[in-house]
Amino acid sequence: MRKPIIVGNWKMNKLRGEANEFMEAIEAYLTGDEASTYGIAAPFTCVGNCVDRAKNLVVAAQNCHWKESGAYTGEVSVEMLEDLGVKYCIIGHSERRSMFGDTDETVNNKAKKLLDEDIIPILCIGETEAQYDAGETEKVIRDQIAGSMKDLCPHCVAKMVVAYEPIWAIGTGKSATKEIAQNCCHIVRDQIRVMYGDEAADSVRIQYGGSVKPENIKEYMACEDIDGALIGGASLKVDSFKAIIDATK
Ligand code: PGA
Repeated sequence: MRKPIIVGNWKMNKLRGEANEFMEAIEAYLTGDEASTYGIAAPFTCVGNCVDRAKNLVVAAQNCHWKESGAYTGEVSVEMLEDLGVKYCIIGHSERRSMFGDTDETVNNKAKKLLDEDIIPILCIGETEAQYDAGETEKVIRDQIAGSMKDLCPHCVAKMVVAYEPIWAIGTGKSATKEIAQNCCHIVRDQIRVMYGDEAADSVRIQYGGSVKPENIKEYMACEDIDGALIGGASLKVDSFKAIIDATK
């Protein structure tokens, strides 16, 4: 049985005070008996505050570097995240791939390092609008999974979270239909099955992301291969995050 996981990706938003208020409001709302795991991915500057206030919420970072330490100005190591008590980390988000040079190879390095240190990667993949229009979605998904999940141990893969996020749906309000989302998440799982076998494929949790909101999350969650969501815009406000919890708990 896969326990769904719903994570708010705050991106480059929230000062520490705002993050603290959000954490306190949502923690007061959760009982711990919910059927899904809920979490937020905070900017580095407030990850520590959020971990300190987390009881039922899980706290993720939004990126990491795979080297242990050294001359990598501006980077944050996995050990540093571990030191803060972080349990999850987003890697390979499309914004990092398109604006900050992340590739399947660097994402793969990050996945390996996180798994070595027992932090669960939330590995993002997804096609561009041009690739979607050209009918290349399946190939893009399989190639990204093959490259960014290369040479991992099957037992580790079983613990991972993969977020399928079509780039054309991110921040656009143009969410994928539930049929498209289910079909693509099924392809993700199938590619993992090809690479790592049934146990890994049946255990890995696959999220859909891209303009998920309180009004549409339920229909995604009802899909066989969708085990949660990665949510940007609709995760920023307490009321909207509460509505997401209400729709899925
Ligand atoms: P969105 O972002 O929900 O605002 O579309 C999703 C994401 O980038 O993870």
